[in-house]
Amino acid sequence: MTNRTLDIINGVLLDGTGAKPRERTSLRVVDGRISCIWQGESRPPEAQRPADRVVEAQGKTIMPGLIDAHVHISYGEGRNAEEVDVYGGPEWNALRAAWNAQKVLKAGVTTIIDPGGTYNVGVAVRDAINNGMFPGPRICTAGRHITADGGFADYFPIDMGMPSSAEGVLCSTKEEMLKEVRVQVKNRVNFIKLSGDSQAQETNSEAGPCFNDDELGSVIGMAHQLGRKVTVHARYAETIVAMIRHGIDWVLHASHLRRQDFGYVRDSGVPLCPTVTFAQNIIDHGDECGSEPGHVEFRKREIAGLIETFRRAYEMGIPIMAGSETGFSMSPYGEWHAREIELLVRLFGLTPMDAILAMTRNNANAIGWEQDVGTLQVGRYGDILLVDGNPLDDVRILQNRDKIVAIFKGGEEIDRSPVPERPRMMHERGFAVSSKRLRRNPQTQDAYASQY
Ligand SMILES: [Zn+2]
Repeated sequence: MTNRTLDIINGVLLDGTGAKPRERTSLRVVDGRISCIWQGESRPPEAQRPADRVVEAQGKTIMPGLIDAHVHISYGEGRNAEEVDVYGGPEWNALRAAWNAQKVLKAGVTTIIDPGGTYNVGVAVRDAINNGMFPGPRICTAGRHITADGGFADYFPIDMGMPSSAEGVLCSTKEEMLKEVRVQVKNRVNFIKLSGDSQAQETNSEAGPCFNDDELGSVIGMAHQLGRKVTVHARYAETIVAMIRHGIDWVLHASHLRRQDFGYVRDSGVPLCPTVTFAQNIIDHGDECGSEPGHVEFRKREIAGLIETFRRAYEMGIPIMAGSETGFSMSPYGEWHAREIELLVRLFGLTPMDAILAMTRNNANAIGWEQDVGTLQVGRYGDILLVDGNPLDDVRILQNRDKIVAIFKGGEEIDRSPVPERPRMMHERGFAVSSKRLRRNPQTQDAYASQY
């Protein structure tokens, strides 16, 4: 049922612009977008006509729906590269992604940025949701990550070759990279994702990215020429700096930066998206899930690097985005998104306001969707959370389903009824870390180590 006109009245408006919360504030959504906002009793002329629906928000916070900048909708809570990249097939992966998308929306995440996945699943699910076929968040999606030989996402042995199902697409020459950009744009991705780190960097911090300057200039330049932004998986300093030099639009991970790089990064204005939840979940729950101790140690080092990098980045005013890296067994759909806000506060020292802005306004700005989502201002979509309490007092209430009393997308209230558990296919062997409990594979009852 469409409510053509929705009023949410008398709440505390946390509008996502960075402005102080406003008491006794009301807003009207007409045909999906916010048409006016007013404070107190004096309604503006455009809000005189009775609304089709009125929601009383007294004592509650009215805030923008969350934007998670790092959700892989096609990964299906896979435990390792094989589960993500090999099994399932495009048909299964797309249907499963549509199933999982509803969980994300029901958690209060009204927009996701999907930095790449298997086949062209992100585009199909985005379009199906936009056409009203399934409930789900708005999706801004990349296609398969473009990588070079020995780059991150080039996981498979040479004699096997990169499966056509893989999240990454291996391009050995500049010509192949350019062709892939053109094909992905033709296939209607929102943006291009590069896997920029080289495997050499995992053991040698002085090593460089998997692309050379000529390739980077060409690929990013071509994407921009075709009207697409470009992001990159880049944990290491040499990669981050090279990407920024060639005009990257935002950087995912950015775990390790050298002191001398911060001024350059700040002056570029390029936002960084740390993605902490995934690594922190492995540290907190890896032993319960059978993660190798060495892998847990790797993640501890990553978090240590992130803390050093992002405490400084925040001090220097580098724009910080927020994304949970949902989609793996350690970060299942609909469970952990808002934990990223908590970790930005706890680990990096962001104020609650700045951490919330990271997961709303800053993410919208990075993808160029700021006229549509990320803030509650006139003209933006009515993507709204109604929260029982003040998230500025404790951001963790955004992880508490009982405290998020209503979710609206385009002014329509979302059905919050839980998505039923489903049996897993035999190829989905891993089990996922839920915020409430571990989800063990009901078919095999096995505990599997999480490679991710
Ligand atoms: Zn990712």
